[in-house]
Amino acid sequence: MRLLFLLPLALSTALQAQWANDADGIARAEHPHPPTERSGAPPTRGYDLKYHRCTWALGPAVRYISGTVTSYFTSTQDLGQLIFDLSDSLVVDSVVMHNNVLAFSQEPGDLLAVTLPAVMPSGQLDSVSVTYHGVPPEAGLGSFVTDEHDGTPVLWTLSEPYGAKDWWPCKQDLNDKIDSLDTYVTTPVAYRAAGNGVLMPADTIGSEVTWHWRSRYPIDHYLVATAVTNYQVDVQYAVVDGDSIPMVSYAYPEEIGTAVDNMQNLVPKMVLFSQLFGTYPFANEKYGQAKFGWGGGMEHQTMTFLGVYHPEISSHELAHQWFGDKVTCHSWADIWLNEGFATYLSGLAYEYLSPQYWDIWKRSKVNNITSQPDGSVFCTDTLDQDRLFSSRLTYNKGAMVIHMLRWLCGDSAFYTGMRAYLNDPQLAYGTATTNDLKAHLEAASGLDLSGFFADWYTGQGYPSYTTTWSQQGNGQVTVLLSQTTSDPSVDFFELPVPLRFFGGGTDSTVVLDNTVNGQLFSFHLPFTVDSVKFDPDTWLISANNELAMSVEDLSSTEHVLVLYPNPATDRIAWHAGIPANGTVAVFDAMGRTVCTANARAGMLDVSRLVPGSYILELRNARGLLRSRFIKR
Ligand SMILES: [Zn+2]
Repeated sequence: MRLLFLLPLALSTALQAQWANDADGIARAEHPHPPTERSGAPPTRGYDLKYHRCTWALGPAVRYISGTVTSYFTSTQDLGQLIFDLSDSLVVDSVVMHNNVLAFSQEPGDLLAVTLPAVMPSGQLDSVSVTYHGVPPEAGLGSFVTDEHDGTPVLWTLSEPYGAKDWWPCKQDLNDKIDSLDTYVTTPVAYRAAGNGVLMPADTIGSEVTWHWRSRYPIDHYLVATAVTNYQVDVQYAVVDGDSIPMVSYAYPEEIGTAVDNMQNLVPKMVLFSQLFGTYPFANEKYGQAKFGWGGGMEHQTMTFLGVYHPEISSHELAHQWFGDKVTCHSWADIWLNEGFATYLSGLAYEYLSPQYWDIWKRSKVNNITSQPDGSVFCTDTLDQDRLFSSRLTYNKGAMVIHMLRWLCGDSAFYTGMRAYLNDPQLAYGTATTNDLKAHLEAASGLDLSGFFADWYTGQGYPSYTTTWSQQGNGQVTVLLSQTTSDPSVDFFELPVPLRFFGGGTDSTVVLDNTVNGQLFSFHLPFTVDSVKFDPDTWLISANNELAMSVEDLSSTEHVLVLYPNPATDRIAWHAGIPANGTVAVFDAMGRTVCTANARAGMLDVSRLVPGSYILELRNARGLLRSRFIKR
């Protein structure tokens, strides 16, 4: 999902640049419901959900639901009691099994406990029907909302992550997808209901109509949704692998033109994502977008709900059909597998279809990620909703970590690995963990990605590079590459670092395999270099980089003491032309010694020095070297 804080803007291609560069504006505060991850409860409750048939009566003007949910399930152990999630704001009228009324109770924690007539042995298929009614609770931004547009009532649901129980009896377990689903929404004839799957023939009786949606792909509880108003419907088609996929707009009548334009803009993205990541996962059904009144978008399976017709949000929600809906995060702690990929694919839509915005988009993500020195993609506290749905860490850093995985693996292995992940029978139409992603990319690339995931998934912060280079008359270029890290959880980010050298009307890009700090690289370039660009295509998360040409020949470093970063803020590190096995001293402008260290340390804490100019001296048995640095 995405929440847009800005007011909707008029659609215009020219504005895409502004959107592309608007990492904060498109940021969201993600969730309506305080996450309350259940712990200690058996994950499956002794049963495996097979099917739901939901019949709901919904008048969009009234905040009220009544209905019956029939659940088919297979017992996975000897089962005496069936537990569903259901808000205690809703009243259960009856629970029926084979025409027999069963005893039930609504328990603390929004649980509905149904007592089975006899203990069901493991492995048996059966069903129960729960009839209920009531006013769903008002929680946060709302799992069940009534509102108006242009004077007409509208009702919608938005369950992610814990709100499904606010409006229907369900099993809120990410890892027990509902194998298939039918929803029937009865409403006054003036209204239509948007839903998951394929629209079946409507049934009109008197002044009421029942809209029937049939879903035959596995679906997670939080992706089941309905929205009801006087929708006007339009259908476009995307041709993917020779098949036409319907792309259905459920629009407010006053916005039908904008809705159709938006869907037409999405057709090439449907084709692109299918080419890159495999055919649209719900091709036998449809892709839909239903307008609702929330300030963002939500990737309900086969029927995104869209609060604004915004091209980047539209791309993001479409991308979720692969990442989030087909393959769902195994736990909320793995939410970046949904949101990082949906965010990255909205960037890929720029790369492939509007390339002029691609670098703007990447740089805006890096700027947002590095606006603070710490924070990991790994969610350290799923109970903290701001952290769980952090736009900086879960969405933007997640997306750029995926981009760096692509850089490490190369395009061919990256896309091969991603398609294998999405098609893995253990994961497809099921759930995945971060380790599942890592295993597929390692298999496709042959790389060991453990160090990368330690630095970039669980580790925090980012590197700041100091690049010093020199060129000799014969074309030999020497580069000294050093880095400091913004957070102590990572000592050193081991990455291939691209540098682009310009000169003589040409340029050449060199990728340095940076495995240790203060590393020297030497190579030949057939032109006189007059400038260098660090990471010219924005493959890396890095910031505060320094780039300098050395007047000394770095390849004969006998006389060189290179200090970095320079100017320094917290730490100063060195690379010397003599063995760094002696002592280091720092002198201020008056020549006074302000600190000393063992040269083997490789760096010195200068955070307490007052701003100004200093001399660092390295001395050992072979001599001494001095160099100047600035403390900021
Ligand atoms: Zn999302």
